Amino acid sequence: MFKKGALYRSSPWRVSAGTHVEIKLKGSSNGLEPRPAILRDGVFACSESSRRVIIGGMIKITFLGGAQEVTGANHLVEYSSPDSTQTGKLLIDCGMFQGTKTCEDQNHEPFGFSPKEIDVLFITHAHLDHIGRIPKLVKEGFKGKIISTPPTKDLAELSLVDSMGILKKEAEREKREPPYTEEEVRKAMEIWETSLYGETIHLAGVKAVFMEAGHILGSAMVELVFGRGESEKKVVFSGDLGNPPTPLLKDPYDLTDADYLIIESTYGSKEHEGREERKLKLERAIEDTIKSGGVLMIPAFSIERTQELLFELNDLVENGRINQVPIFLDSPLAIKATAIYKKYESYFNQEVKYVINSGDDIFKFPGLKFCLRTEESKAINNVEPPKVVIAGSGMSTGGRIVHHEKRYLPDANSTLLLMSYQAAGSLGRQIEDGAKWVTILGDKIPVNARVLEIKGYSSHPDVNGLFSLVEKNSDKLKKVFVVQGEPHSALFFAQKVKDYLGIEAAAPARGESATLE
Ligand SMILES: [Zn+2]
Repeated sequence: MFKKGALYRSSPWRVSAGTHVEIKLKGSSNGLEPRPAILRDGVFACSESSRRVIIGGMIKITFLGGAQEVTGANHLVEYSSPDSTQTGKLLIDCGMFQGTKTCEDQNHEPFGFSPKEIDVLFITHAHLDHIGRIPKLVKEGFKGKIISTPPTKDLAELSLVDSMGILKKEAEREKREPPYTEEEVRKAMEIWETSLYGETIHLAGVKAVFMEAGHILGSAMVELVFGRGESEKKVVFSGDLGNPPTPLLKDPYDLTDADYLIIESTYGSKEHEGREERKLKLERAIEDTIKSGGVLMIPAFSIERTQELLFELNDLVENGRINQVPIFLDSPLAIKATAIYKKYESYFNQEVKYVINSGDDIFKFPGLKFCLRTEESKAINNVEPPKVVIAGSGMSTGGRIVHHEKRYLPDANSTLLLMSYQAAGSLGRQIEDGAKWVTILGDKIPVNARVLEIKGYSSHPDVNGLFSLVEKNSDKLKKVFVVQGEPHSALFFAQKVKDYLGIEAAAPARGESATLE
């Protein structure tokens, strides 16, 4: 709220010559006549605009990544309290741009702000498109705090260290410096603090809280509360949201009172297909593999999807729904991620906790073998089929799964089970689209194996899920910013919010700012 007394003070505003000052009036009811007052004071009477200062408290968001694009999430929040005594610069996520080469080149470009000036970086979850540029931020002088939930910190360290190998190889190929080294990851971990769901983080002029997002272990929405009493504003960043119910996680927090919502839109224009009996399909795929004496290959993402799969296999094996068969988890990253999942059992939903409390280890069952070392991976070849191999990457764009695909795709008794979204251009997508021949590790390979898909499962909500979240907040919402989706998806969803709920909505492009009234 505007302070009359403050209006006549010149020095506390720290406004330099050449700064354009804009007075924000909260209606005329406060009886102030600020413009003449300002002019009389003389200090602010500079019309040449080099910077915009709003007296009376301000919150400004600049969308610097994940703006009309899925990856690279990076949102800057600048704020000052009404009397300008409390100001700050916050970042929500600092993700890597992923996808095409041109897209990934953007990871080397400068940030749209000075990393030295950022006070706090909030991390919503540990996917690389939300954490991948943290080491770069640290390298370029970030001295503030990083804050996330405890599992996000652990998973982020694992992912950042893991992706370093790939980035190093890429850099060597392109004859340039890798984007970061172990040193920056180590430094990032030193300044990284954790906060539990629902716990209030007090910063100068703002309170922050993480709330369950149900997307992957530890994923959170970030709620920022500015001001107090009548002038209080609740700004919520959704991060990536889950698609409940999920096998392991709790449902996302039931948000109902946001003033401003910055919402993801990965599937902002799509409806998910109906949910299939996933476990039943999995059961049949394994039974058929045992019958045909082949190999069941399952490409799976190392974080969340693999642990969901292990949990379901645990149930099928231990409850005698399938016969025991050798099952290999052939992914060092997934094995390490599973250890982190085990550490955070309190984050699981009631059903999973019930199974754990009955004394069962949900990621361990007869026949399951973790293959951490290369020799263990190679030794899978010596085990007679039938057998099941779970390995990364989820879209067969690399990782150990491609070695198994090269060996067993020509075998008509074997099966490839696709459980994840396969991006255009990936090996997984070529096979999904029915390719009869594919190139793997430089060799032409015939696809004689059976290709099965389990669809309808996604770790993001579809357009209806997103819409219902906005609708629940519609009494209070002043504006919705749609981010982290392709342009058609983000723009479609923003339009839908405007048309059906009459709430102001926008899908900002990269670099666009918005001042919250
Ligand atoms: Zn994500």
